[in-house]
Amino acid sequence: MSASDAPATAHLFRGARVFTPDPAPVGHDSVATIGDRIVAVGTEEQCRAALAGSPVTPVEHDLRGRSIVPGFIDAHTHPMVMSVFEVHLSFDHCRSVADVLDAVADSARATEGSTDAVIGFQLDDLLLAERRMPTGDELDAAGDGRPVVLIRRDGHHAVASSSAIVSAGLADPANVVAGGYVERDEHGNPTGLVGERSVADLLALVPAATMESLEDGRARWTERMVRQGITAISAICQTTVEGPSGPAGEMEAVAWADLARRVPFDVQTILIAPELSVVDDFRALPSLHSPRNGRRVDAVKLFLDGTLGGASACMHSPFSDRSHTSGMRTLGDDDAYSRMEAAHLAGLQVCIHAIGDRANRDAADLFARLLTAHPGPHRHRVEHASVLDDRTVELFATHQITCVTQPISLRSEAHWLRARIGDQRLPHAYRHRTLIDAGVPLAGSSDAPIEDTDVLAAIDAAVDRRGLADEQAITAVEALRAYTLGGSAARSTETELGSLSAGHRADVVVLDGDLATARPASLAVAATYIGGVEHHRDPATFPARG
Ligand SMILES: [Zn+2]
Repeated sequence: MSASDAPATAHLFRGARVFTPDPAPVGHDSVATIGDRIVAVGTEEQCRAALAGSPVTPVEHDLRGRSIVPGFIDAHTHPMVMSVFEVHLSFDHCRSVADVLDAVADSARATEGSTDAVIGFQLDDLLLAERRMPTGDELDAAGDGRPVVLIRRDGHHAVASSSAIVSAGLADPANVVAGGYVERDEHGNPTGLVGERSVADLLALVPAATMESLEDGRARWTERMVRQGITAISAICQTTVEGPSGPAGEMEAVAWADLARRVPFDVQTILIAPELSVVDDFRALPSLHSPRNGRRVDAVKLFLDGTLGGASACMHSPFSDRSHTSGMRTLGDDDAYSRMEAAHLAGLQVCIHAIGDRANRDAADLFARLLTAHPGPHRHRVEHASVLDDRTVELFATHQITCVTQPISLRSEAHWLRARIGDQRLPHAYRHRTLIDAGVPLAGSSDAPIEDTDVLAAIDAAVDRRGLADEQAITAVEALRAYTLGGSAARSTETELGSLSAGHRADVVVLDGDLATARPASLAVAATYIGGVEHHRDPATFPARG
């Protein structure tokens, strides 16, 4: 809807704890919006004065000490992978093998008569009481004979029922590819556990996504993110087979151009584009690129290394629990530099995936070389920036390279991070305190669907690291800044989004307590407004006109 045909709405939020993201001065307890814009932030009197010119009577909300904050910005998501995962099983609620098997049985019953495989993603055996994956026999029973494939969180392992093993051709040892692995018992029968390159054979059983199923998934994650207070995202999409989804992701950006029409958020699309010319093709599509309507294609992403979970992040020295490997660089310096230079000269933002300390140092050196050869304004960023040596932090600060971080990984990786990188390197992981103190721009994100999009849980993880280098903890307000103004700057929208200030888009979130004093994880999102329109309100924590 354009401003002219939408019914104008106006709001007065008063009696609030205001975080702009910074805490507002005492007495500045109100925010006023007209249409899709914030018109005043300050005292109730100032806000009422600003609303005097409103064409409609403002809706008044007495927040009674609840917090009002800018809409949350998730600076790194994979919306098409989310849309695929969303319509399959997930295991977030599972605490035991029995819970997993119940979920499989429920799904098999719900789709009775279908011959499609029951598929689940993101299974983390280390979060189950038994700390093991289900066996093939257990999946045979739970799935009542249907093919069942459950992919482990790291993507490097899976468990499958016997019919899935047969369908994937993995019953015969001769079919197991080099670099693949199918575990067998003493009689030579598959146990159900499959590893590394053989996982791809099981992924072939995932029913092909239709636009209907993708749209179904899109609707589900949009609805969840709105309830979590998110109002803007950066969306990473493949344009070729290059990227984490491989050949299955070849059409991601094309499908995203359709799904993005129904996403209420401000959307930056970041393309994984080995050939820069495709960027122009996607910029020609208004559903992806129409800056006046909150849609931009202005960034490209490339990968320097793998992951900590898969022990493929590129490190200066071997992993502490995998002494035979220091991970790997997935793209050489020359190729990386020529892509970075071309994108930089085309005025595009360069986003580099770097997780290990070696990959991050290499990224820092490459950016230093690029910006020395071609100085000028830029918003280049490093995705993840998980393990950083001191020199890298210095270079990121000097060249103002944004670190796009996922603090919630401190929760999901808590049970193995110390063992993987060792006590000595642990203080170099997720160095939020060091980065902020050094003046490196910091943006918050989820990497969804790898991590949950719950921003309050992520802020909680950044504040309370539970023993994982506690000296790197930051305050809730600093973490809020990373998920609002910091995230906005990381996508070049900071004059428009990311803070409660007059003239900004009315993306406003109400929290049911005081962010400065409450445990962030104990807070709930009471309401979400996008462009002044109420998209979510929890009547239990924020009664209408309460
Ligand atoms: Zn990612």
